[in-house]
Amino acid sequence: MCVFCKIVNKEIPADIVYEDEKYMAFKDINPKAPIHILIIPKEHIEKLADINDTNKGIIGDMTVVANKVAKQLGIDKTGYRIVINNGPDAGQEVYHIHMHLLGGKKLLFAT
Ligand code: 5GP
Ligand code: ZN
Repeated sequence: MCVFCKIVNKEIPADIVYEDEKYMAFKDINPKAPIHILIIPKEHIEKLADINDTNKGIIGDMTVVANKVAKQLGIDKTGYRIVINNGPDAGQEVYHIHMHLLGGKKLLFAT
């Protein structure tokens, strides 16, 4: 089972900031900004490339969760960035699809 599925199953701890029936958001263990949250579907989908016409609603749902969390953490007015890494060249480390929600400072662009 992957590390994020273990977090979903509460087998390993995480600092959870949002949870509903289908989604979860928790603090990144190695934050790259003052606010760095990961938003995941509870369903194990490996990566963005696995999104298709059948499951594309998940991306919209994750965006709604990200917006809620941004508001909850007080960065809705100052702004934030959403990142989804897909595959090796993007540096994807965990193969359970996730959105990074980054904010709390002026963000630089990394390539
Ligand atoms: P990726 O590079 O796959 O887009 O991002 C994976 C992210 O997951 C990284 O920013 C990393 O710090 C975070 N991460 C990896 N393992 C854990 C963990 O066990 N708990 C939490 N909270 N974050 C993790
Ligand atoms: Zn998983």
